[in-house]
Order: sequence, then structure tokens, then C-alpha cells
Amino acid sequence: MSVFAGIDLGGTHTRFAVMADGAFVTSEKYVTADLMAAGPRLAGVIDRYREVIDRTGLAPRAVGIGLPATLDAARRTVLSAPNVDGLDGLDVVDLLQGAFGVPVVAERDVNFQFFHDMTASGRTPKVALGVYIGTGVGNAVWINGFYTGAHGSAAELGHIPVPGATGTCGCGKVGCLETVCCGRWLKGWQEKNAPQTPIADIFARHGGHPDIRGFVETAAMAVATAVNIIDPELVFLGGGVLEMPAFPLETLKARLLAHTRAPFPRDVLEVRLASNLGDSGARGASLYVANQFGPQP
Ligand SMILES: [Zn+2]
Repeated sequence: MSVFAGIDLGGTHTRFAVMADGAFVTSEKYVTADLMAAGPRLAGVIDRYREVIDRTGLAPRAVGIGLPATLDAARRTVLSAPNVDGLDGLDVVDLLQGAFGVPVVAERDVNFQFFHDMTASGRTPKVALGVYIGTGVGNAVWINGFYTGAHGSAAELGHIPVPGATGTCGCGKVGCLETVCCGRWLKGWQEKNAPQTPIADIFARHGGHPDIRGFVETAAMAVATAVNIIDPELVFLGGGVLEMPAFPLETLKARLLAHTRAPFPRDVLEVRLASNLGDSGARGASLYVANQFGPQP
């Protein structure tokens, strides 16, 4: 039997998925803060992984782990994980391979979400893009594999500068896309301008407001910027903001295409809505290591 496992260590929840002969047999979710409180060097994550695997009675051949972090060029060491304490500077691959005794692949969490979406689409494009707008902005670039840049820090669409933006970003810079175009900005806008409106109803009740229309336009311009640079065949758009009721997805797509170079890639660009399975990241991690380490001989 060909068994692979995936871990998605998120800012809030950590999910474990186990795949046997191409089918997911287990998906479990835990609170990240509880796991991280169990001890240094991912002790809680390692223990919980072992428990999850013991319950399946299976033996994964490789494990993928997605992290809410920038990783070094070798995809081993965490450079910066602003939302989870205790990860910075950790050689995650060395640590987990020592603990699990099988090959471990570490990636930015959004890359494994993207790999899940790409696999689910049934396509294997040469060039593709994923943009996930949730609390922050996640971005994956695929050019015959994840494009990670010279130092591991590529595909940071959330941190491109935006004219007129004056807020300080979590990364320390001023004027990043994430300061004006993510769930955090929407929450701030709602608190200031529509305190009676539940955050989930922002698009349903205030979609026509110039600020909210501007939000969608800024998102379209940012995605179009990435599209015009890499010329992808396929774009996944997703994240919690796009899943909010009455989010104007068709407007976003239309404005994206309006800003996209023609005839290519605009006339042939396939824009898909990403999956919103809670465990897409953990599934994607399993699928990725299955793809890397192949079927059981
Ligand atoms: Zn930033």
C-alpha cells in the first residue's frame, strides 16, 4: 500500500491528512497554540502526528508539512513565521526527518493549498498562479514546480507596494497590498464604517460602497500584475474573503481580465475558484510528497 501524510501547520489550526493508495483515509484538526505549548522544537506536533498515524495503523513513506512562513532557498529552515511563535530559525526538515524516519518536504502553506487545487483540477500546467485572499494574502507561483526565487522569498504578492497605501504591514514595510486588500482591512473598514453590520455581510450590504468596490478593484489589479509578469495558463482565486456571501467574484474576474495583456494570456486564461475544504493544505502536502516519492514499488 502506498501511504503518504500531510501536515498543515496554520496560524490557528493544524491539520493532519493521511492518504493510502490515492484516497484520503484520515483528516484531523487541532489548535496550533495547544500543540506549540507542548514544548519547543515542534514536540507537540510530532507527538500528535504519531498518535494520528498510530490510529490509522499505516506507515507513511514520506510526509509533507506546510508552514505559515517564508522558508530558505533549500526549503528546510524557517526564515520568518510572524503568526506562530517558536518556528523562526528551525530546520524543520532535519527535525522531522529525525523524528519520523522518512523523507519530509517543507513548503509554504499556500503552495500546498495550490498543489491541492491544481491536482483537483486535473490539469498539469507549465505555468500557473494561485492567489488566496483571507486574513492576509497568500500567493503561489508554479513554473514547472513551485517558483521560490533566489532566496526562498518569491511569490509575495501581499507585499507589493500599493500607491496611496500608508498603513504599516505585518512584515514591517509601509504600504503593502496586505494593508489595503485582505480580511484584516475589511474588518477595520467594518468597525469604522459599518459597526452594525456583521463582517460576513459586508459584501451583501455594502458591496456598492466606493471603498468596497475599490477593494475589489485593488485585488483585480494585484492579481493582474502577477498574471502579466508570469503569463500563466491557469489561475486559482480563493481564500476566506472570496467565500464571503455576495462577494462579487464575476466582477473580480472581469476586472482581472480587463487589466490582463491581450491577446495572451487574456484570451486563453482559465480562472478557477479555489477549493474551500478546510484541509486542502494538508491534503495538498500529502499529494505533493506522493507526487515526489512515487507509488510503492
Ligand atoms: Zn508587507
